Amino acid sequence: MTNQRLFASIITIGDELLIGQTIDTNSAWMAQELNKIGVWVKRRVAVGDTREDIWQALDEESRESKIILITGGLGPTADDITKPLLCDYFGGKMIVNQEVLDHVTNIFLKLNRPIIERNMKQAQVPDVCTVLMNKRGTAPGMLFTKEGCLFISMPGVPHEMKGLMTDEVLPLLKQNYKMPFILHRTLLTAGAGESFLAERIKDWEEALPAHIKLAYLPNYGMVKLRLTSHGADGAALEHELDTLFLALQEQVKDIMITNEDLPLEKALGDLLVKRGKSMATAESCSGGYIAHLVTSIAGSSIYFKGTVVAYSYDAKETILGVNHQTLETKGAVSEETITEMFNGLMNVTTADYGIATSGIMGPGGGTEDKPVGTVWVAVGSREKMVAKRLYFRHDRLKNIELTATNAMMMLFQFIKAEPV
Ligand code: ATP
Repeated sequence: MTNQRLFASIITIGDELLIGQTIDTNSAWMAQELNKIGVWVKRRVAVGDTREDIWQALDEESRESKIILITGGLGPTADDITKPLLCDYFGGKMIVNQEVLDHVTNIFLKLNRPIIERNMKQAQVPDVCTVLMNKRGTAPGMLFTKEGCLFISMPGVPHEMKGLMTDEVLPLLKQNYKMPFILHRTLLTAGAGESFLAERIKDWEEALPAHIKLAYLPNYGMVKLRLTSHGADGAALEHELDTLFLALQEQVKDIMITNEDLPLEKALGDLLVKRGKSMATAESCSGGYIAHLVTSIAGSSIYFKGTVVAYSYDAKETILGVNHQTLETKGAVSEETITEMFNGLMNVTTADYGIATSGIMGPGGGTEDKPVGTVWVAVGSREKMVAKRLYFRHDRLKNIELTATNAMMMLFQFIKAEPV
């Protein structure tokens, strides 16, 4: 192992990335995976399907980094220009790779679909590359070297790129390069703002050694704190980082949700599993989004009973038993209605804990005393309920997201405060 940084650049190709039609999730995922094995991502560049621009990006990035990972533009359609360009860039000629041809033919045989010339072309690769087999698709990965730099081209389809990275690229990098250890420790806090938090841990932060960095990652009501260290001696780094991380946890223990790099819904799920309890939701303004987040975690069937999306007055009355009178006199976004929604939820499910939401997500529907972004959230158990009025100032989708995050955070804190 070495203390010297090994730099990588990621080039993602496609006009759709530049106009924002496709969000470049490839480079984010690749950067995370590279970081885990100690490769320092120096630059991430998106370029359109233009020969000159791709050529220029290859030139520029090879001046910055030793490793250049490329995705996109490898398919069988006319706008996929990467392969012939790479062939010219590295000075080769196109040849048919028999292994890829057999693989492509097999895929079409299995699908019982006719194979056309266009598909067969996937087996053509520059003779100056090493082919990396793509088990999940037809376009192969290609590895080139030039002036001490390693270039690897992969398909743009995220599922195929991930397969190639996991099976071929990451093991190859680990084997061929000496890399420093990069270690992270992350914790999530809720209920304290960034500046308040910074004030609280000031002394601890000021005493950090120069090679250990602290990052504040705020996200509406929650702040992630990430400690990063890098160096050659993995065991020593780990010991040092863990000691500092323990001290940090001690300072924020009353506001800490988790000391792992987890999404809130996973932390909530883990807590429910640990306590052997279950939950359900009654969602009006969040429209089932909390249920979606909770059930996006594998194994959530153990603790998630279900949701009632009671959007209209009618649904609130007939499914959750909210009084017509309450809705008429107090409105759907009120403490009274949220309380009745919560009680109704506990009646129609067997869950130990519940969340109820009702709010005005915008852009219309606000009034002077209940402006857009006003939300009532109730969380609790069969014995006790806490209701809170929240206020968000964003667009509709962000308001929904914030309602969900805050509601889950409230339930997390409620359960945490319960006697075990
Ligand atoms: P194929 O021709 O096999 O589909 P390809 O290498 O030609 O693959 P593209 O045509 O550029 O790749 O993209 C294929 C699909 O993969 C696109 O429709 C897009 O949804 C997705 N994709 C491409 N690049 C990215 C990226 N950087 N991040 C996320 N998704 C991407």
